[in-house]
Amino acid sequence: MEFDLGWILLGIPIVFALGWLASRLDLRQLRIENRQAPKAYFKGLNYLLNEQQDQAIDAFIEAVQGDPDTSELHFALGNLFRRRGEVERAVRVHEHLLRRADLSDSDRERAQYALAQDFLKAGLIDRAEDALRQLDGTRHQEQAWLTLLALQERARDWPEAAATARRLQQAGLGDFSGRLAHYLCEQADQALNRRKDAPAARELLELAIREAPGSARPRIQLAGLLASQDHMDQAFEQLSQLDAHAPQSIPLIASELVRIAQRTDQLPRAVDILRHSYAVTLAIDVADALVQADLAGGVPLQQAREGYVRHMAQEPSLIAAMRWLSHEPFAQEDAHPVVQRSIEHAARPLTRYRCAACGFEAQGYFWQCPGCQAWESFPPRRIEEL
Ligand SMILES: [Zn+2]
Repeated sequence: MEFDLGWILLGIPIVFALGWLASRLDLRQLRIENRQAPKAYFKGLNYLLNEQQDQAIDAFIEAVQGDPDTSELHFALGNLFRRRGEVERAVRVHEHLLRRADLSDSDRERAQYALAQDFLKAGLIDRAEDALRQLDGTRHQEQAWLTLLALQERARDWPEAAATARRLQQAGLGDFSGRLAHYLCEQADQALNRRKDAPAARELLELAIREAPGSARPRIQLAGLLASQDHMDQAFEQLSQLDAHAPQSIPLIASELVRIAQRTDQLPRAVDILRHSYAVTLAIDVADALVQADLAGGVPLQQAREGYVRHMAQEPSLIAAMRWLSHEPFAQEDAHPVVQRSIEHAARPLTRYRCAACGFEAQGYFWQCPGCQAWESFPPRRIEEL
C-alpha cells in the first residue's frame, strides 16, 4: 500500500480547522444556554438566599413551566415544598420527575430518594420504607439503609432492625455489632416479658454475646436472667467476665456483683474485680460496692464505712458523704437526721445519669436514651462524676 503524504499534509490543517470550529460552536452553544438559563431560576435563588420561600417557589414554578425538562429545578422545587411541609406538592414534583422517560439513572435514584424523604416527612412510614427499599444497589443505598434502621428502631421492630444492621455490617459500612447486640437484647426482653419464654431470651442473649463480645449489655442482662433463675454461679461468671470484655461497665453492676458473690462464696474474687476497676475509674459505685463487700465479709461497720472517707480523700464527693452519714454511728446526736436529710437532698440530683448526647437525666441507667434515642449515650457514671 502507498500513502499519499500530500493528503496527510493537507489533512492535518483541515482536522485542526474542524476542531476549532467545533469548539467555537460549543462555546457559542454554551453562551446561548447561559443567556437562556431562566432568569426566573436566578430570581428564585435570590429569594431563597433572602429566605423568602414563598416568592422562591413562585419563581421556580415559573422556571419549571418555561423549561419543563430541567430536572435540577424540579429537585429544588420539590425540596422547597418538603421543607415548608407542603409534602403533597413535593410528592407530586418527585413523582412527575420519576415518570419522565428522559431522566438519567442517577437523577431517577435521586428522585426516588427525595420521594422517600417526602413520605418520611409526611409520616407515611410504610410508603417511605417501600421507597427506601427501592434504593438497593444505588449510590443512596447506605443512607437508605440507615434511614430504614432508624424507622425500624422507632417501630421497635427489632428482628427487622437486626436484619438491616447485619446487611450494613456485611456491606462494610461500619461496625454495627454493638447495635445488633442491643436489638437482640431488646428481643430477649420481649421474649421474657411478653411470652415468659426464658429459654428463648437466654438463646438471644448468648447470640448477642457471640456477635458483640465487647458489649456489656448482653452479659449484664444474661446475668440478671440467670440470677432470677437461681443459677448464681453462672450469673457471677457472666458478671465477672465484664472485667475483661467491658471494664467501663463495672460501676453499673458493682453492687449486684457483691450480692451474687455473697450467695456463691466468691467475695474475694468480687473484691479483686472491684479493686481492679476502682484503681482505674475511682467510681463512687465501685467504692460503695467495696464497702458492701467489707460488710458482707464481716468487717465491722465503723471500719467498713471508712471506705467512703478514703474515697473522699481522693475524690470530693457529696454522694460518698451521704452514704457515710447514712450509716448509724452519729444517730444518737439530735442534729444528725436534719443534717443527713439536707445532704441527701443536695446529693440526690448528683446520683442521676445524664445522656452525653442530649442532656436527658434519669435516676436509672438507660441503654437507649429516652430523650434522643441514642444508644449507650449515658456514661455509666453518676452526674457528680462527669
Ligand atoms: Zn439523649
